[in-house]
Amino acid sequence: MYVDVHSHLTHKDFAPDFEAVVQRASDAGLSAIIVNGLEPESNRRILELSKLYPIIKPALGIYPLDAINHLPDLIPFPVKTFDVDQEIAFIASQAKAGHLIAIGECGLDGHWVGPETFAAQERVFEALIDIAVSHDIPLIIHTRKLEERSMEILAAHKVTKVDFHCYGGKTKLAVDAAEKHGWYFSIPANSNRDGAFQKLLKNLPEDQVLTETDCPYLPPEKGTRNEPKNVVGTVNLWAEYKGWTPEEARAKVWQNYQRLFVKA
Ligand SMILES: [Zn+2]
Repeated sequence: MYVDVHSHLTHKDFAPDFEAVVQRASDAGLSAIIVNGLEPESNRRILELSKLYPIIKPALGIYPLDAINHLPDLIPFPVKTFDVDQEIAFIASQAKAGHLIAIGECGLDGHWVGPETFAAQERVFEALIDIAVSHDIPLIIHTRKLEERSMEILAAHKVTKVDFHCYGGKTKLAVDAAEKHGWYFSIPANSNRDGAFQKLLKNLPEDQVLTETDCPYLPPEKGTRNEPKNVVGTVNLWAEYKGWTPEEARAKVWQNYQRLFVKA
């Protein structure tokens, strides 16, 4: 069984053929697709989808740029305005009700926005960390350019259940974090053409590797729409690097998924 731990099936690009995308994932052997929320609209849609499709597992979160929607002049593209504290309370209520497989995505972004936004980003990140920790569910982390700071905050909160999604920091920092904290790293489906993700696949401890797509983004083939079934390519690539059969690599990722997200 395969798993995609980070997808955005709520994206408008999937509206025309959503059913077919889910069916293709299921036909390819996926048993779980974690759909990650960004703001109120996607968070609510994910809850609905997870009730309709057992393969869809809900993670609710606040994207780092949405977390600072009260500072629109500092964000280089438009984001919807909403009350962040109300959304944090909503996510907490859903976690409390036992509806969520994880909190995500959430984290810190230093790529699109600058230091004047970091305090506001960290406030939301820490509130979401508190929810995950108090309900003992994992966090799915987005971090760009602020990998060390994100790790520092997670370590300070003594968080053990963590998946870094689409990690773009130094390989050594990731490997050290995986070894020291037992944190996981999900490798996207564009690993076939991204040297940094290949390096992670080769170097991460094998118990800390997961697969994701971030679909519709990061496709294996440039210019196409990515979708969950493409996790298969990453599993096969990992098998090649490790000298395993594809089935062995698939089983390994599935065990890792179960350990982090399913078995407490
Ligand atoms: Zn994402």
